[in-house]
Amino acid sequence: MTGNCRNGIFTTEDTGLTEENRIHSVLSVSSVVKTSAANSKLETGNSKLMLKAVRGTRDLLPPDTDLWNRVEAKVRDLFARYNFHEIRTPIFEDTQLFSRSVGEDTDIVSKEMFTWEDKARAQSEKAQSLTLRPENTAGVMRAYIEHRLGDKGTLQKLYCMGPQFRRERPQKGRYRQFYQIDAEIIGPPSAGSESPLRDAEVLEMVATLLDEVGLHGWQLQLNSVGCAEDRVRYNQALRDALKPVVHQMCADCQRRAETNPLRVLDCKVPEDQPIIEKLPKISQYLDEPCREHFAAVRTMLDAVGVPYSINERMVRGLDYYTRTTFEFTHGGLGAQSAVLGGGRYDGLSESLDGPKAPGIGFAIGEDRLILALQSQGETAVEKVQAYVAPLGAGMNPHALKLARELRREGVSADIGDESFRLKKSFELAEKGGARFIVIVGENEVAAGQFAVKNLASGEQVQVPRAELAAHLKAAK
Ligand code: AMP
Repeated sequence: MTGNCRNGIFTTEDTGLTEENRIHSVLSVSSVVKTSAANSKLETGNSKLMLKAVRGTRDLLPPDTDLWNRVEAKVRDLFARYNFHEIRTPIFEDTQLFSRSVGEDTDIVSKEMFTWEDKARAQSEKAQSLTLRPENTAGVMRAYIEHRLGDKGTLQKLYCMGPQFRRERPQKGRYRQFYQIDAEIIGPPSAGSESPLRDAEVLEMVATLLDEVGLHGWQLQLNSVGCAEDRVRYNQALRDALKPVVHQMCADCQRRAETNPLRVLDCKVPEDQPIIEKLPKISQYLDEPCREHFAAVRTMLDAVGVPYSINERMVRGLDYYTRTTFEFTHGGLGAQSAVLGGGRYDGLSESLDGPKAPGIGFAIGEDRLILALQSQGETAVEKVQAYVAPLGAGMNPHALKLARELRREGVSADIGDESFRLKKSFELAEKGGARFIVIVGENEVAAGQFAVKNLASGEQVQVPRAELAAHLKAAK
């Protein structure tokens, strides 16, 4: 993926990195050329090509967005109870941030990033390689270092929500623009950031979060990928085990066996799986402090009653993880079953030239969380409480005034139009999902009381103006 900034507009061109990607990109560039030629022909013929959302991106529409907002509100409420505070980092960052933290050999950095060369626009600026964030932990850690948040001497409990970008092969539950809810605990060791209590607190919080948003039947898979020293020993063991067999594996595995053998475990090629199954497990290479740390995390999860299973193959697809790693999965998601993933990243700050700042965090795939909730039949259509129907010429100002009063009292309201006949107002109120219709005619305004009909039960009553908001609220 390469790109440019032309006339103040950031553009990326899909040139990709692998052969397959390059072919795809040549095809897509030539089809763009063809399409725009066809387009101009069409335009001269007085019709226009309909533009659509780009492959792997999608529009989130009501009523789905009601469910998204309800989930986000619940999550924000929960984070506040655990004393987490919001951080908002930029959507694009210096490319190096991701290559140095997520790791050059990961799928994310080697194949999936949307990167472009940002040209200098003034003498004071330098050309720079920029990347749309593929994940948020690196950006949060950059901000932690840049703003010297560690100097406060306390744990920083931070969360963020927003879009992430990966050039993956789109399918249900996997998009090129997707949304994550991240939470991180970072701090100096003196603040207790290395303690297994942090891991257990985070895992217990995620379990509570999923329960509170109403997800049933989630499963927690847990592993420890050890510390940097364990990783050196494990990588050597993997290299030794791979040597006699690696020539039978895919090109990515052959490269990774040399550069970063741990990443061989991320391989999804079906033919490589029998070989990967037989590779040594990381649990055999943990040193004593890492073993004890992991045992302490498990003891605390047992103490609070959060169920989990150990998955020794789970190493997560990012290089910065150390010690505890985890994934929460859900059966309603099909192939893309991970609702969220996370882990500890004790050396991440140092790899970005920051101070010692151990941490642990996770990223919920919000698209998948919503899909999982919908697979359980969850919907969130926020019904409008009142449809205010002006009846007859000159009634629009009265309807607007009444709607203003209701809305200020906390009642949600829509307004029709004085040009609508009563029948049409009823039809529109029902179509729009209103609970009540309130008729605003000359007589009602003069009498200071309004005809209110419950659209579900058909019951109709006259309600004085001063009691209207309370009447509608009570019927919620
Ligand atoms: P990661 O940042 O790779 O640890 O992923 C954390 C979570 O983000 C995953 O468990 C998924 O739920 C979600 N996720 C990652 N990549 C995608 C994607 N391309 N589309 C939708 N969700 C994703």
